[in-house]
Amino acid sequence: MSNKNNPEFNFSEALLVKETELFRDCTNIVVGKGNLNADILFIGEAPGRNEDLGGFPFVGAAGKNLDRLLEKVGLSLDDVYVANILKCRPPENRDPFPDEIKTHTPWLLKQIREIEPKVVCSLGNYATKFFLSGGDVDMMGGIPGITSVHGKIQDAEIAGLKFKLIPLFHPAAIIYNRALGSEWEKDIEIVKKVVGGEYIEKISKKKVGNRVGRVEKQTRLF
Ligand code: URA
Repeated sequence: MSNKNNPEFNFSEALLVKETELFRDCTNIVVGKGNLNADILFIGEAPGRNEDLGGFPFVGAAGKNLDRLLEKVGLSLDDVYVANILKCRPPENRDPFPDEIKTHTPWLLKQIREIEPKVVCSLGNYATKFFLSGGDVDMMGGIPGITSVHGKIQDAEIAGLKFKLIPLFHPAAIIYNRALGSEWEKDIEIVKKVVGGEYIEKISKKKVGNRVGRVEKQTRLF
């Protein structure tokens, strides 16, 4: 069943999304998944077909790769929260238009404000350029790409919101270029260090309960 009529999606940032064509044409609003108390927030680009149908981010091929990468470095959805720049799938997975980024990211900023992560990891070019431009979508074109900024700790500031940003390669890019996987693993070690290695170890050992149930419950809070 679609979540598009969920009465909880009536706050102003969600209403902005609901005015877009992407909302009209999508199956589900893809809000996020993972632990709302996590210190690490991953931000991808936009839902694809599988995400649109299922209502959760990163459940298709890129998502399987993200799960594999997380497992490899000893993390799981208990340690991170995952969301996207766009909340609805662009047709044929085309790149987001500037106006779509402008209307969908206020909801993302609300999520960052509420989750208060220690580190935001932008996955790939779109999310990285959005944050490095300070949320000024018209300036995104002039921002360096992920190849030159991945793994570098940045101080981001958008709409009065300040946080540490560490750009990572997008898991989908790693499917096509496996060499990027070892870069990703090195970069995530930097993320862990910033968050505090000890803390990550502690929460990774504390996996309890039915994760899927928890994720769904948490997602409804948004
Ligand atoms: N790629 C993304 O950037 N986000 C998703 O949710 C799925 C694929």
